[in-house]
Parts: sequence; structure tokens; C-alpha cells
Amino acid sequence: LNRVFIDMDGVLADFDGLKKQLFGPTYEDGDKLIEMPGAFLMLNPIPGAIEAVPQIFGLGYDVWIATRPAPAWPTTYADKAAWVHKHLPKLATKLIMTQDKGLLGEKGDILIDDRPEKANCHLFPGHLVHFAHDGESPIRADRWYGAADWEQAILILKWLAEK
Ligand SMILES: [Mg+2]
Repeated sequence: LNRVFIDMDGVLADFDGLKKQLFGPTYEDGDKLIEMPGAFLMLNPIPGAIEAVPQIFGLGYDVWIATRPAPAWPTTYADKAAWVHKHLPKLATKLIMTQDKGLLGEKGDILIDDRPEKANCHLFPGHLVHFAHDGESPIRADRWYGAADWEQAILILKWLAEK
């Protein structure tokens, strides 16, 4: 059974949406949000994300969440866990918090992440789906694919499942 590891911020949870609401559209520094206890729990789901999880199980994958909390702000760990309990309770026991996503998975597994330049994603041994929203170009690399939204991500997961 191949595994799909799903990033939280920017893939399942709309970090940028809350940041823009609280600090305005041009405020690029996300640190202020990270410093606010409860902020991660308040994030809205990314459109299609909640519905995508049962679909991915339906494609025959094992689904995990792989997220990188902010070590300097321990409340981000608790808030991320609380978000999963609230929005995806079936994944409460499938939540991995790590600074190093290169430690996860094996060949044939899939990581979906919007910031593959961080958290050692380049060391992930399987396929990577770059969730490149807001018109951003996907990062091109061997076994890396781009998806602008959950519909496109599911299309890639279906294709990989049949390979
Ligand atoms: Mg992210």
C-alpha cells in the first residue's frame, strides 16, 4: 500500500488566507500569525481538501499528514493537532509533525507540499506533488509534479495509482 503524505499549511489549511485577513494582502511575513496561540486552529480548510482525503483512500493509498510546526512556538503543535481533530478526525492518529520530511516514505510513496524547497522535501524518496497555488509555477524535478488545486492533485494521484 503506497502512502500519501499531505502537508498542512497551504495544502489542507489556508494559512495565507488568515494572514491576509489579519495583516492585509501585502503583508508577507507569516511570523506574526505563528506567534498567535490559536491561529493555526482558526485556519479555514483549502477548497476541496476535506473532500479529497476520502477520495485518496478510495484510490487505494494510505493517507498521512506531514506538517512542520514552528519549534520556537510550541502552541503551533497543539493548534495543528486540534485543527486535525476538528476538520479531519479520521486522520488524528495519522498526524506526523517533523522538521525533516526527507525522513518519511519510500519509493512509490507521494508527498503533497506547497513549499518543497523547505523541510528537506528534496530528500523525500518518492514522488512529490508541488501544490503550487496562486498562479505560482511548480518546481520541476525528476518525479515531481505540479498541481494548482485539489482537483489536479487527485488527477495526478489517480495516474500514479494506475502506473
Ligand atoms: Mg505548506
